[in-house]
Amino acid sequence: MRVGPPPKFEPIPGSEFTLDVDLVLLAMGFLGPVRSGMIEQMGLALDNRGNVATNADYMSSVDGILAAGDMRRGQSLVVWAISEGRKAAAAVDRYLATKAEPLAQRHHAHA
Ligand SMILES: Cc1cc2nc3c(=O)[nH]c(=O)nc-3n(C[C@H](O)[C@H](O)[C@H](O)COP(=O)(O)OP(=O)(O)OC[C@H]3O[C@@H](n4cnc5c(N)ncnc54)[C@H](O)[C@@H]3O)c2cc1C
Repeated sequence: MRVGPPPKFEPIPGSEFTLDVDLVLLAMGFLGPVRSGMIEQMGLALDNRGNVATNADYMSSVDGILAAGDMRRGQSLVVWAISEGRKAAAAVDRYLATKAEPLAQRHHAHA
């Protein structure tokens, strides 16, 4: 199976209308993660849908930067965000354990 490109939103000519309101709250999904800022500054690779690309361990293209939930899968469901959050936390734990080993050895060597 292959994931296709994200659907494109295009204005429909003549569909504009005016509402007389005091307050507008925009609850917009399906727009993908905000790229300007951290994503661009860290140079994270994106997948073909514009989300942060990760491997099976939730690791992005930059070592030590992990992504989960909508940031990684695109607009989805709360249950997926919870599930991925837990799995990503376990992946962070595994990642830190690999980093901690040399430190522990270094500490042992100096003790
Ligand atoms: C209008 C709408 C209705 C929805 N309805 C449903 C529904 O009925 N049922 C359902 O299951 N799902 C629904 N969803 C989807 C669901 O809300 C998401 O899948 C879920 O919230 C994703 O969780 P997340 O933790 O991955 O991301 P988010 O909940 O988006 O959390 C990301 C957090 O990171 C913060 N953040 C972003 N950038 C930065 C930054 N640079 N620095 C610091 N913080 C940052 C954001 O402020 C936010 O608090 C809906 C989504 C929308 C938009």
